[in-house]
Amino acid sequence: MFCSFCEKKAVIKLHYSSLSLCSSHFFRHFEKRFFRAVRKFKMIEKNDRVGIALSGGKDSIVLLHLLHKLQKKLPFELLAITIDEGIAHYREKTLEAAKEESKKLNIPLKIVRFKDELKKSLDEISAKGRVCSFCGVFRRYLLNKTARELEVNKLALGHNLDDMVQTFFLNIVRNEPLRLVRFVDPLEQPQGFVRRIRPLMTSPEKEVALYALLKNFKVGFAECPYAHQALRWHFRKQINETEAKYAGTKFKILKSMLAIVEIMRKSLKEGKILNCERCNEPSAERICMRCRMLEEVE
Ligand code: SF4
Repeated sequence: MFCSFCEKKAVIKLHYSSLSLCSSHFFRHFEKRFFRAVRKFKMIEKNDRVGIALSGGKDSIVLLHLLHKLQKKLPFELLAITIDEGIAHYREKTLEAAKEESKKLNIPLKIVRFKDELKKSLDEISAKGRVCSFCGVFRRYLLNKTARELEVNKLALGHNLDDMVQTFFLNIVRNEPLRLVRFVDPLEQPQGFVRRIRPLMTSPEKEVALYALLKNFKVGFAECPYAHQALRWHFRKQINETEAKYAGTKFKILKSMLAIVEIMRKSLKEGKILNCERCNEPSAERICMRCRMLEEVE
């Protein structure tokens, strides 16, 4: 298989566009789409102070390198935040990757641990079940709190196209369509809420992984041991099977998702984020999910 643009051997065939690409044309294609998404959705502006949620997995490491590359075209500050949930035999490896890659690029890194902040690691909470729900809620809380303390005005997350599509289905299946508005961009930014951006939202997971591999980034490729317990895992499998049969499905779902959110934003006053009555952190409800979960684990 040869590249559609030159005589070199192809490293990937993009079934959704019928193109085969060699490594240099793949890099060009991948980076161009990334920069286009940042521009189109006005994710980063001059003089922003951007914090990246750096787990050390492939998505966040690729995002780190691409944002660092973007700094050459656009002046903005970049720093990294890593949340260590305390997942034995998994997080240690990704932590190493986060430390090594941020050091390589000279990007300051702040590590925050569940154990220090919540007095318990995720492994210790796991006996209660719903591990991913606890993990997600506490991680989002710590990311937002740390971003605020570090005075960043945007928090960049490594969600790729596949994550976006899975989130769409999860919100529909859980009958929480309004969450989609908050997920894409809340109608109002409450006090203390750091705006989240997802510059990899148009990049398929497979291409993110290939980019990391071809660039020889140090990346934690292992799956979290709790991942298969999540409903997300089920959708991931289903969506990948559909994509394999009907190429381009993921891009079409993302477009539909953004169109639906746009209509909802125009017609609803919902999607607002308030401040929790107990801890004053941003929350969709009177008492935030973290405070309710803390009661459960204490
Ligand atoms: Fe946390 Fe679940 Fe993701 Fe593991 S798979 S890091 S437990 S949200």
